[in-house]
Amino acid sequence: MLTRVYRIAVDNIDEGSVRECCEIVSRGGIVVFPTETVYGLGASAYNGEAVKRIFIAKNRPMDNPLIVHISNKKQLYEVVEEVPEKIARAIDVLWPGPFTVLLRKGPRVAQEATANLPTVAVRMPAHPVALRLIDCAGPIAAPSANISGRPSPTTGFHAMVDMFGRADAIIDSGETLYGVESTIIDATSKPMKLLRPGAMPVEKIAEVLGEEIIITPEARGYRESERALAPGMKYKHYSPETPLILVEYREDVEKMVEDVIRVVEEVGGTGKKVAVIASSETFHRYKGLADKVLVYGSRKNVFEVARNLFKILRELDREGVDIAIVEGVEEKGLGLAVMNRLRKASSKVVKYHQNLYIPGHNSIQT
Ligand code: AMP
Ligand code: MG
Repeated sequence: MLTRVYRIAVDNIDEGSVRECCEIVSRGGIVVFPTETVYGLGASAYNGEAVKRIFIAKNRPMDNPLIVHISNKKQLYEVVEEVPEKIARAIDVLWPGPFTVLLRKGPRVAQEATANLPTVAVRMPAHPVALRLIDCAGPIAAPSANISGRPSPTTGFHAMVDMFGRADAIIDSGETLYGVESTIIDATSKPMKLLRPGAMPVEKIAEVLGEEIIITPEARGYRESERALAPGMKYKHYSPETPLILVEYREDVEKMVEDVIRVVEEVGGTGKKVAVIASSETFHRYKGLADKVLVYGSRKNVFEVARNLFKILRELDREGVDIAIVEGVEEKGLGLAVMNRLRKASSKVVKYHQNLYIPGHNSIQT
């Protein structure tokens, strides 16, 4: 398939290009488009056959539902059954933005988009190109524009690496603002529940709603949910090819990382290459100890860490190392989303009060 690529500047939107992409969507095509979080791969939310093509292009399990993206409030009432008063007030404040809300699904939305669930996840993205495209094409169902299991694309180039030859068109509008996906709240449960932490801090959403939001261990990225409530939680996500060990945050996380480097090198034997992904405050400690050191940003600026996260995970695979160790961040604000992604991306999570045990080899006690 020949994929058409459009470069659309955020501050100077070429209406002709938007119209062409809109026509592709209207004819049942699938289009990569930018949002303020990550790039999405979209199809008309009302066209089941088109939505099916997204799953095939991404190699995504059919039981993992998509988010329906809208550009105005009228569309909201087209895609859901009803909007509770509280939610209507909250979206006035939070939309457009990286806040996705789960409501009961309206009849027009294709079953394929919601994996046959009675609920639909909806959001209005804060990206002028996305909004123009949706204005023209109507509600667009879209997951992130990566091959299933890979880190989400935060640049047009990343989206191209994964989707060229798979999507009908790709809109490249440069780097996204947040670099992690939207925050998903289930408004059909009582009390409301966080399904996925993301670019909008859950603390802020709870404040606007004036309600408590339950944060489960699954939402922190710890355990895979056995239940079919949010099928998206069942899958391995965001993973680089390189095996990744996450060291959970604590004040002196760098000491723990140093221990883990030593254990990994002992276990791996000579010649195995180790990378560390760390903060701008701590990276210097690993120079000489690890083969490669990558910096995800400042510990004091978790917005920056979130923004760089998927880019770094993609870069890691080009560093030629056998294993990588990443420093955790504090689980506050956007830190909750960062830790959710890191826990899902890593093959091993190390906590300071636990042993790091690698079968048949070694263990460390701290
Ligand atoms: P992605 O944009 O690739 O992160 O995919 C959208 C995510 O939204 C999925 O992984 C699901 O976890 C979540 N989602 C979408 N619709 C629903 C729904 N009806 N119920 C629960 N989770 C949903
Ligand atoms: Mg995704």
